[in-house]
Amino acid sequence: MTKKTVCDIELCGKRLLIRADFNVPLREDGSVASDRRIRVALPTLRHCLENGASVVVMTHLGRPGGQPVEKLGVRRVATRLRELLGETPVEVADTDWEEKANNLKTGEVLLLENLRFDPGEKSGDERFANRLRGLGEVYVNDAFATCHREHASMFAVPKRFPEGNRVIGLSVAKELAMLDDLLESPRQPMVAVLGGAKVADKIEVLKVLLGRVRKVLVGGAMAYTFMKARGFDVGASAVDEGKLGLARQILARAGDKLILPHDHVVVPHPDASSQDASSQARVTEGSIPAGWSAFDIGPRTIECYTAAIRGAGTVVWNGPLGKFEDETFRTGTEAVVRALAESNAVTVVGGGESGAAVELFGLAEKLDHVSTGGGAFLQYLENGSLPALSVIDDR
Ligand code: ADP
Ligand code: MG
Repeated sequence: MTKKTVCDIELCGKRLLIRADFNVPLREDGSVASDRRIRVALPTLRHCLENGASVVVMTHLGRPGGQPVEKLGVRRVATRLRELLGETPVEVADTDWEEKANNLKTGEVLLLENLRFDPGEKSGDERFANRLRGLGEVYVNDAFATCHREHASMFAVPKRFPEGNRVIGLSVAKELAMLDDLLESPRQPMVAVLGGAKVADKIEVLKVLLGRVRKVLVGGAMAYTFMKARGFDVGASAVDEGKLGLARQILARAGDKLILPHDHVVVPHPDASSQDASSQARVTEGSIPAGWSAFDIGPRTIECYTAAIRGAGTVVWNGPLGKFEDETFRTGTEAVVRALAESNAVTVVGGGESGAAVELFGLAEKLDHVSTGGGAFLQYLENGSLPALSVIDDR
């Protein structure tokens, strides 16, 4: 996809309206738990500021449900952004957006309060979109992880800008370049590793992937919907009953391309976080005993999946292989991430929790691309396009 970027237009003296995605994970006390999404936006911000622009940045943060929620205000994000940008002044505008934007000088940044404090953001409201439209001369989309949403700041706002003034930022450009390579000319053989919990979100992309890859290695909670569809007993493991029919169809079509776990780490109840989970955890092969639940792939599966990764030219990974947030069920995900880091294959990772796992193991630098997107990443792999990009100018 060849979209116009901030490098293709004249920026000097202009006021830019940049949609970033500073939807960072927060700790209980409201502090920023990972600043990755803020760091990802820095190249675009620096490029614009160094080329003589002033910058109004907008983002959402969490799910305030269309009203102000103190904990979800952008002040902490602004503090971190200030630290990262060094000399650059960064101000926050609560509600006085127009006044502060009009007073903005070249080289300065204004961060608008959480867009989702207004119900108009999610509903794509006209009044809200018109208000945002008035805040800049050029619209920049640098929020890849939100590009599958037709929210006001992603869709209705850029639509209101004249042609030639709707571009993407450098982080979106990088995401698209990586994903386009993956779709158009991947180094062969290509292997996909698919895990996580959201069967309903992932089953469509799985269908598409099967047409493109040598193997799909399935793990995580989604494996148990497929195990059940294939006729195994899965005990009390999580199953998306509504998708069993589709899972059966996919299994029939996929043949031996789709690999399910041979063995599993199980506990005798459905609660992975229970205190005695680590002392009760066992490895079982094949079916899972009644009342037991699987929360990780077992050692034989790890061996088989990491071998497939070692032999691949390209690996796409989305979705943890187990409930990695609990140490007892982290082994499978950690082994896969380490295999990705050590492999010579082109390695591309997408998904919120998958990205968090890569960070947890400190291996982000060893992978070729860790997408900021979850839903957007999967939807782009599925369709080769995203709604919010359709309103950006082509190059
Ligand atoms: P991503 O955000 O990377 O796309 P998902 O949102 O689909 O991934 O799923 C991530 C979640 O799946 C993790 O929080 C993890 O705890 C959970 N998970 C993985 N395997 C299992 C399992 N076997 N049983 C229950 N939950 C699991
Ligand atoms: Mg997720």
